Amino acid sequence: MIDFSVEPEFQAKLDWMDKFVREECETMDLLFPEQGAQFDPDYAAAKRHLKPLQEEVKKQGLWACHLGPHLGGPGYGQVKLALMNEIIGRSSWAPVVFGTAAPDTGNAEILALFGTPEQKQRYLGPLMAGEIVSCFSMTEPQGGADPDVFTCSATLEGDEWVLEGEKWFSSNAKFASFLLVLAVTDADKPLTERMSMFIVPTETPGIEIIRNVAIAGDFDPENGHHAHIRYNKVRIPYDHMLGERGDGFKVAQARLGGGRIHHAMRTVGMCNRAMDMMLERAVSRTTKGKMLGEHQMVQEKIADSIIELEQFRLLVLKTAWMIDEVEAGRLKHGAPRKHIGMCKVAMASVYANVVGKALEIHGSLGISLDMPLAKWYGGHMSLAFADGPTDAHKSQLARAYLKRAKPAEGMFPSEHIPTRTAAALARYPDARES
Ligand SMILES: Cc1cc2nc3c(=O)[nH]c(=O)nc-3n(C[C@H](O)[C@H](O)[C@H](O)COP(=O)(O)OP(=O)(O)OC[C@H]3O[C@@H](n4cnc5c(N)ncnc54)[C@H](O)[C@@H]3O)c2cc1C
Repeated sequence: MIDFSVEPEFQAKLDWMDKFVREECETMDLLFPEQGAQFDPDYAAAKRHLKPLQEEVKKQGLWACHLGPHLGGPGYGQVKLALMNEIIGRSSWAPVVFGTAAPDTGNAEILALFGTPEQKQRYLGPLMAGEIVSCFSMTEPQGGADPDVFTCSATLEGDEWVLEGEKWFSSNAKFASFLLVLAVTDADKPLTERMSMFIVPTETPGIEIIRNVAIAGDFDPENGHHAHIRYNKVRIPYDHMLGERGDGFKVAQARLGGGRIHHAMRTVGMCNRAMDMMLERAVSRTTKGKMLGEHQMVQEKIADSIIELEQFRLLVLKTAWMIDEVEAGRLKHGAPRKHIGMCKVAMASVYANVVGKALEIHGSLGISLDMPLAKWYGGHMSLAFADGPTDAHKSQLARAYLKRAKPAEGMFPSEHIPTRTAAALARYPDARES
C-alpha cells in the first residue's frame, strides 16, 4: 500500500527544516543573490556564513541525504527525501546548505555506484563532505539530446587516456575540483557501448574553458556558469575511468534519473512558495472595491494552481515511493523509469503555470525584480532542458505505452458501442424481452 506518512520523530525534523530554511537559507538568498554564488569556493564572505549553517544541518543528521545507507550515505529513502526537498526547494542556497545540490548529488551517486575504493576515497569522500564541487561534462555543442552525435573522444596511449574534443553547458566547471567527462572510446561499437566515463581533475593541463555561458537570470552575460570547454589532449591516468570501458552511457543514465526526480521534488517547494505569495497578494490588495481574491478569475488561477500542484506533488511522491520499493526488492529495477519521465515532463509546465499565475496576480510588481517571481519564471525552460529536453521524454513515454497497446481486431475500436452491443445481444438474445 502506498503510504507517505512519516513517524513523529522525522516530522519533527521536517518542522525544524521548515523554520531553518525560511529563517537562514532564505536569508542567504538575500545576502548572496548572484547566480552560482553557492558553488564558488573562493567567495569568502558567503563561505563564512555558509559553514556554520552546514554544521547545524550535520548536527541534525540531515546532511547529504540523497544517498541512502546502501550507497554509503546517511539518507532516509526517497519519500523522505522528497518531503525534505519540498522544503529545501524554497531557497536557492538551501541545497548547498543541506549538501544536496545538483550536479554534485548525481555525480556522488555514480561515484558511489561505480567508483573503485581509491576513486571513492579521493573524490566521493570530499564531495559528500561538501569540501569540493564537481561538474558533469556530457552535452556537446552539436547536440545534447542525441548522444549519437557525440564526438569528444578518449584514446589509450600507453597507460593514459588522451581526451580530445568539446563539451557544452558543463555547469559549475569553473568552480569544480573534478569533471566527470563522457567520451567516445570505441567509435565502431553500438551507442550503448561506445562511450566511457572519466574522472578528470580540473588542474590537468589542456582543459580550456572557452566561455562560461550565461542563462536567463544571470547578472553578467559573459560570466555565466555553464562552461563551453575544449579538451586539448588532456591526459587522464588509466585508473580514472569510472565504471568499465564502454559503460559510459549506462553510468550517465544512472545519474540522470536521480537528477530528474530531485529537481522535481525541489520544484514542489518552489511552487509552494509561489503559492504562498499568490494567496497573500490575493488577500492584501483590492481593486474595483473588492479583494483580488474575490474576483472570480483570480479565484480560478488560485484553484487551478492548487490542483495542478497537488497532482504534481502526488506524482513525485509516488515516483519516490516506487524508487524506495525497488531498493526494498518489491519492485523490479527500472520500474520507476516511466514515472521519472512523467515528473520530468510535468515539472517545467507546473512550475511555469504556478509561478506565472503568482506573477500575474502581482501585476507590475510581479514582473519587477523587486519580487523573485520574474527571475523564477525565466528559469522554467532550464528545467525543461536540463537532464534532457521535455519533448524527448514525452516521446519516450508515449512510445513505451504504445508498445503495450494492441491494434483493434476489426474495423472499429474495441470500445465501439454498436459492435459491443451486438456482441452483448448475441450472448443474451432474450435480454431486452419484457
Ligand atoms: C540550466 C542547464 C544546465 C545544464 N547542465 C548540464 C551539465 O551540467 N552537463 C551537461 O552535460 N549538460 C547540461 N545541460 C545540457 C542539457 O543536458 C541539454 O540542454 C539537453 O540535453 C538538451 O540538449 P540541447 O540543449 O543540445 O538541445 P537539442 O538536443 O538541440 O534539442 C532542442 C529541441 O529539439 C527537440 N528535440 C530534441 N530531441 C528530441 C527528441 N528525441 N524527441 C522530440 N524532440 C526532440 C526538443 O524540442 C528540444 O527542446 C544543461 C542545460 C541547462 C539548460
